[in-house]
Amino acid sequence: MSDEDVALRVRALESLLLEKGLVEAPAIDEIIDLFENRLGPQNGARVVARAWSDPDFKARLLENATDAIVEMGYEAVQGEDMVVVENTPKVQNLVVCTLCSCFPWATLGLPPVWYKSAPYRSRAASDPRGVLAEFGTEIAADAEVRVWDSNAELRYMVLPERPADTNGMSEDELMALVTRDSMIGVTKALAP
Ligand code: FE
Repeated sequence: MSDEDVALRVRALESLLLEKGLVEAPAIDEIIDLFENRLGPQNGARVVARAWSDPDFKARLLENATDAIVEMGYEAVQGEDMVVVENTPKVQNLVVCTLCSCFPWATLGLPPVWYKSAPYRSRAASDPRGVLAEFGTEIAADAEVRVWDSNAELRYMVLPERPADTNGMSEDELMALVTRDSMIGVTKALAP
């Protein structure tokens, strides 16, 4: 199906839902605005940059990520709880949904295509070091790789290690180093 076909089908479906009174136009506009403008990895990057800058916030985030993320103004879209796991030189955390594609929309937006693919979902669990190598991520031989399986009720996000040579950087400057993939745990945060 071409993009044009998809657009036509979506418009036909929308007209039908509106005509039958099953949805209201403002609700559709609200959802589009949510996904286009308000959700995305920029939210997660701000959470990470805040945790790197503010030890008290970091402690709250690791203790109760759901509340700490709401504190920053990012609301769960599907009522899910959040857990944030911290990378260290000795621990690399990796997030997957082995069942489908559960993902923290509020902080990371929609999942990338590879996250939903069968090979990632199976290999993240069976061969996480191999997956990391394919993403070009080097970890110490004696480091532990921990794999976290997100589900509908509970979604994981990684707090990457703060890169070296970032002392004195502002929260906005730090944010630019935090990629979506680093918060899934397949890569590290960028070097400045
Ligand atoms: Fe899922």
